[in-house]
Amino acid sequence: MEDCVFCKIVNKEIPSQVVYEDDKVMVFKDLEPQAPIHYLIIPRQHFNSIMNVPAGNDIVQHIFMIAVKMAVKEGVGDEGFRVVNNCGELGGQTVNHLHFHFLAGREMKWPPG
Ligand code: 5GP
Ligand code: ZN
Repeated sequence: MEDCVFCKIVNKEIPSQVVYEDDKVMVFKDLEPQAPIHYLIIPRQHFNSIMNVPAGNDIVQHIFMIAVKMAVKEGVGDEGFRVVNNCGELGGQTVNHLHFHFLAGREMKWPPG
C-alpha cells in the first residue's frame, strides 16, 4: 500500500524497533509509548481497519496468540496487560493499517478516554 507508514515498516523502508516477527505479523515498539511496555502488533498484509478483515480470515486470532506470547516474554501474564484496537475516526484510529496496541507495566484505567 503506497504511503502507508506501517506497510513501509513491514517493508523495512522505515526503521522500527522490532521485537518479534513471523510470516504473518510484526511487533514493534510504539514511537510514543503510553505505558512502560507499548508494542504495536500488525499484520504484514494491509487492511485499513478491523472492518476490512474478511470473515473467516484468522489474522486476529493469530494476533491475540502473539499478544499472549509477548505477555509471557515480558513476564506480565500474571499481573496483567491490555490489548487495544482503535477503529475509525471516533475510535481514535490515526494509522489506517490494522494494528493492535499491547500495553503493560502500569495499572490501566477504565473507562479509556
Ligand atoms: P492509533 O492511534 O491509530 O490506534 O495508533 C497509531 C500508533 O502508531 C500511535 O500510538 C503512534 O504513536 C504510532 N506510530 C505512528 N507512526 C509511527 C511510526 O512511524 N513508528 C512507530 N514505531 N510508531 C508509530
Ligand atoms: Zn499498510
